[in-house]
Amino acid sequence: MENLKTVLIVEDDKLLNNSLKLVLSDEGYGVTSVTKGELAIEEVKRQFFNVIVLDLMLPDIGGIDLLLIFNKLSPETCCIISTGFASLSSAIEALKAGAYDYIIKPFNVDHLKLVIERGLNKQSLIFKNKELLERLEREKGKLEIILDIYNEISSTFSIEDLSDFVTGKVIQLLEAEKASLMMVDEEKSELVVKGSKGLIRDENEIRVKVGEAIAGWVAKEGEVLLVNDVEKDPRFEKFIHPDKYKTGSFISIPLKVEQKVIGVMNVTDKLASTKVFTEDDLRYLSLIAHQTIAQIENIRLCERLSALAVTDPLTELFNQRYFQEHLTQEIMRASRYGHALSLIMVDIDHFKQSNDKYGHPAGDKVLKQVTRVMRENTRHVDIICRYGGDEFMIILPDTDLEGAQFVADKIRKVVETQGLTEAEDGLDLKITLSGGVGAYKKGLSKADFISEVDKALYKAKSEGRNRICSA
Ligand code: GH3
Ligand code: MG
Repeated sequence: MENLKTVLIVEDDKLLNNSLKLVLSDEGYGVTSVTKGELAIEEVKRQFFNVIVLDLMLPDIGGIDLLLIFNKLSPETCCIISTGFASLSSAIEALKAGAYDYIIKPFNVDHLKLVIERGLNKQSLIFKNKELLERLEREKGKLEIILDIYNEISSTFSIEDLSDFVTGKVIQLLEAEKASLMMVDEEKSELVVKGSKGLIRDENEIRVKVGEAIAGWVAKEGEVLLVNDVEKDPRFEKFIHPDKYKTGSFISIPLKVEQKVIGVMNVTDKLASTKVFTEDDLRYLSLIAHQTIAQIENIRLCERLSALAVTDPLTELFNQRYFQEHLTQEIMRASRYGHALSLIMVDIDHFKQSNDKYGHPAGDKVLKQVTRVMRENTRHVDIICRYGGDEFMIILPDTDLEGAQFVADKIRKVVETQGLTEAEDGLDLKITLSGGVGAYKKGLSKADFISEVDKALYKAKSEGRNRICSA
């Protein structure tokens, strides 16, 4: 019987005790009866009672004390006290101490039944409220996570970082073990994992053909999937690998931009005791999916824009793309008019160490400091480019090898002398750099020109750094 309500009778009058037990059992309650306070405490410790009918006058423990103990042990239990006229004042005390109601001996059985029934009604309301509060509390937690995602997602500017962030939050939100975000590689018509939480290494390497496996099915059909037992779903019979899923319940959601599926988000293995994902989970995940899609579009837009841009956002120097174009033109000019043309390639020494030791933001400051020195020690017509992470190229039109060596060495010396001092961050770093210089010789291809200077830089590094070598 699933909804059997339980009653504990605490009554030292054996006759009354027995008759109460009979009457309430007949009424369909699960009745336990004791004649002493100590025994009552033991019973309450052992099991939950919906109702306790408590005689205030017991041989071993005072009724009020007992009531307080019951309140502590089982606050939801509805305590009804029974008392004689002589002790009505203690009944009032008992009500103040948390008893639900009282009956006065000798009492009418129907009245007792009614009091119990009313008590149970009130109790079930309390239970419902409690459930509601707990649910709200849970929802509040979920909403906080969702808000967190909404706030943070827009500052994530790579698909990989975004995928890692989102999947991390998703397993928290849905109380799941694994989540992954896959993007469609259109050329190959495959899904590629961009970020995940809880997957083993190999699973991250998996590529799934659109149309194959579960994620591929979702990508192809563009439909949301909430499956409670994957093994019982005929659509996926052919995709099942034994041992792959712990629970068989999962959600896969397509990420769509204007009806086109650009990716799939998967969540598997619910940790909660039920082990199955619910419609609520699906709702939460959809909220996150929408926000994720919006940010993916943002990131792609930025990527497209930055592909068009010619400057590096950190240093505001020209980027490698511009360098390549500009060097081609300068080589053409130099060849045609017989002008001199030189190239300096500079690389910060042990830059990785300062990044590791002082952090990436400090590393960025080093890059900016070197940039400033290069700007201050070159002419307007010289073109300074950020060639790679900590590598720079300077194109010097109308400059011969000697001139380029002079400029490069000046930059090297100033960088070494100034270092990087930032009082407010407590930074005081030594910076040195190595450089390679080369002068253009007629007939040399652009690639060979760059390669010569690169070799010179390599020489400077291998000869001990903090120096300039020429090709
Ligand atoms: P070496 O003297 O041989 O040049 O040693 P190195 O440590 O400088 O080695 P390498 O040139 O290979 O290191 C480049 C480092 O630059 C690795 C990378 O973490 C860091 N890096 C690349 N781009 C950036 C950036 O934009 N900001 C910061 N802070 N670090 C960057
Ligand atoms: Mg370096």
